[in-house]
Amino acid sequence: MIGLQPEGDVDWSMYRGIMVVVEQRSGVAKPVSWQLLGEARRLADKLDAPLMALVMGQDVSHIAQQAIGYGADIVYHADAPELKDYRTRPYSRVCLKVIKTYRPEIVLMGATYTGRDLAGAIATHLPTGLTADSTQLDVDDERLLLASRPAFSEKMLATILCKQFKPQMATVRAGVFQALPYDEKRTGKIIAVHQDMHENDIVTKVLEFVQDDNRVNLEDAQVIVAGGRGLGGPDGFKLLHELANVLGGTVAASRAATDLGWIDHAYQVGQTGTTVRPKLYFAIGISGAVQHVVGMQNSDYIVAINKDPNAPIFQIANYGIVGDLFEIVPLLTKAFQERLTPVMAR
Ligand SMILES: Cc1cc2nc3c(=O)[nH]c(=O)nc-3n(C[C@H](O)[C@H](O)[C@H](O)COP(=O)(O)OP(=O)(O)OC[C@H]3O[C@@H](n4cnc5c(N)ncnc54)[C@H](O)[C@@H]3O)c2cc1C
Repeated sequence: MIGLQPEGDVDWSMYRGIMVVVEQRSGVAKPVSWQLLGEARRLADKLDAPLMALVMGQDVSHIAQQAIGYGADIVYHADAPELKDYRTRPYSRVCLKVIKTYRPEIVLMGATYTGRDLAGAIATHLPTGLTADSTQLDVDDERLLLASRPAFSEKMLATILCKQFKPQMATVRAGVFQALPYDEKRTGKIIAVHQDMHENDIVTKVLEFVQDDNRVNLEDAQVIVAGGRGLGGPDGFKLLHELANVLGGTVAASRAATDLGWIDHAYQVGQTGTTVRPKLYFAIGISGAVQHVVGMQNSDYIVAINKDPNAPIFQIANYGIVGDLFEIVPLLTKAFQERLTPVMAR
């Protein structure tokens, strides 16, 4: 926003509260939205301001209700056939209307493909400042949002402020923050947002959604079985796939493994890869370099398998096995198979 000045005298004190734009697909909210509500709750309490959520889609009243259970005080709920699938124009129109009407001082959304697209479209229209892909959030005594994000090939953490415009906007990386435990007894207000959109006025059409079953979805995975240089080659990942299949999990990798071409970069966990927050993370043949650890240290349980007892990964592991992965992983797979299959078949 360098060089730009707000037009006329704007009374920014009219802007109050934090708004989280909830992302959903086919009626299922993205975990990042609940993680963001968790962190935004902390910031809203610090600012003594309301926490709002904006839920858009078709037949998504259940998500509006969920947003309250995850910490929102007020939910703006826009339900329309035109909002069934994500499209930039209709979604940004609703967002702009809600922001201009209810004036939140901060607007946050997940740094997903759609979140980044939507945030850019809104910020340029308002206009206001936007920090993309933040990994830390805070507010200062002047109610300014301090959005920090890795910069310059992740060598620096830049803290970015938007002093002259409102709302202050940021997209936030999935997996960094923790959702509050869902509380179905929480109460809040749901406000319907009406809009006069007509399909004929919307130039983009979604013809079909092609589900690519091979697409890696590390951010939403509950169990991740990750391998590193210790696997010795691409064949090692077969062992990991077998273990992941038994546990209903997803395979992932360290950068050493992706750089060596053993597995696609889309599987990389870490500072320059995906940040994950599964219930269970296996680090197999991974030393635990800081650039890897920052991407998985928030996992609920970490199990490390490494033949080096001094590998740094053991410092953050809840459970550690010192030994040869080629011996241990097949034994683990077999043991889980024997114990889990009867339960899952029930
Ligand atoms: C700017 C920058 C960004 C980076 N971003 C990332 C990132 O996003 N993600 C990431 O992962 N890294 C990243 N790195 C690289 C990171 O510093 C490490 O080099 C990398 O994580 C190491 O991967 P590794 O643990 O698989 O390999 P190594 O460090 O080589 O560790 C291999 C481990 O396997 C063990 N092992 C070997 N054989 C066996 C066996 N048979 N059984 C059991 N254990 C065995 C060894 O004891 C060792 O601990 C980045 C680096 C830089 C400079």
